[in-house]
Amino acid sequence: MIAADLARRIAEQGPISVADYMAAANAHYYATRDPLGAAGDFTTAPEISQMFGELVGAWLADLWLRAAPAGPVHYVELGPGRGTLAADALRVLAKAGLAPEIHLVETSPALRAAQARAVPAARWHDGVDALPTDGPLLIVANEFFDALPVEHCIRTPEGWHDRLVDRAETGFAPVLGRRNVENRVPTALRAAPVGSLFEASPASAAIVRALAAYLARQGGAMLVIDYGHATSAVGETLQAVRRHAPAPVFDNPGEHDLTAHVDFEALAGAATGVTVHGPVEQGPWLTALGLDLRAAALAKADPSRVAEIQIARDRLADPKQMGKLFKVMAFIAPDWPEPEGFR
Ligand code: SAH
Repeated sequence: MIAADLARRIAEQGPISVADYMAAANAHYYATRDPLGAAGDFTTAPEISQMFGELVGAWLADLWLRAAPAGPVHYVELGPGRGTLAADALRVLAKAGLAPEIHLVETSPALRAAQARAVPAARWHDGVDALPTDGPLLIVANEFFDALPVEHCIRTPEGWHDRLVDRAETGFAPVLGRRNVENRVPTALRAAPVGSLFEASPASAAIVRALAAYLARQGGAMLVIDYGHATSAVGETLQAVRRHAPAPVFDNPGEHDLTAHVDFEALAGAATGVTVHGPVEQGPWLTALGLDLRAAALAKADPSRVAEIQIARDRLADPKQMGKLFKVMAFIAPDWPEPEGFR
């Protein structure tokens, strides 16, 4: 399977980069299963409660109505999972009389099938190269960038070197490469002590660069929600997750989710021609958009669900749960209005 393929590739070419290992492992992982939910490997905000996608929808509707663009508008979601967020957000847009075309960027056949059930009107794309060019894009990415490959850069006495993945007795193991990768490390971090590790995600930067160019040309906005850090920092965050618990990163590639914290400063730095807002923490952002009002309305509509709704509200917004670790960043096209929730 994927482990045998990787082992053969390393035997033929030598050790591969951490990013190549992560890309191959995650491509196999997502292509072959629906990993979401209590019975799967991890749970995401839209799967916790409809309130999450509804508030994202309200945020988009507010921007759209204030910008009042003429002509078609496109909803674009990156890595939409089961399509739950899209369905919840599009329902709120529809209530405001807004009906965008729907474009989902997804590589996994298993998840495309789930998305087709949730959002039958969608069209699918393998990447961001061929999105529509005839109108503003409203782009949403929840827990997408953390799944994209990272490179590991290690500070040695001889400067910054890349970390590679080699074969080991059982499975795989990281080894130090010889290539100098100082140009991947932000200037402010280059003097970090020997042994420091910096994670760079050129794949994430390339996607943000491409999407910012669409926004600068056509109008629109991009909302990125993920766990990560507001400023670039050294430290290893790459981890494997299986059945809601950590697993060894270099064992069983393709059988557990590989994920790394998102470097929001690096994402912001990759965008040109747009205004960047945030990151702000998910808890205060959802609260500013009316999370508690929405929870109260849902509880009033079905009093038997009061406790469940309160638990979901706390999972999304409590600083000890998702409220603080998860961050929200907005990229706004020139001449588009100031987005809600970032003051
Ligand atoms: N946004 C969803 C799912 C998050 S899981 C949620 O919040 O529930 C990550 C998603 O990104 C999955 O849909 C996965 O198949 C997709 N994905 C991962 N790598 C991708 C890539 N390189 N290109 C497109 N989609 C990718």
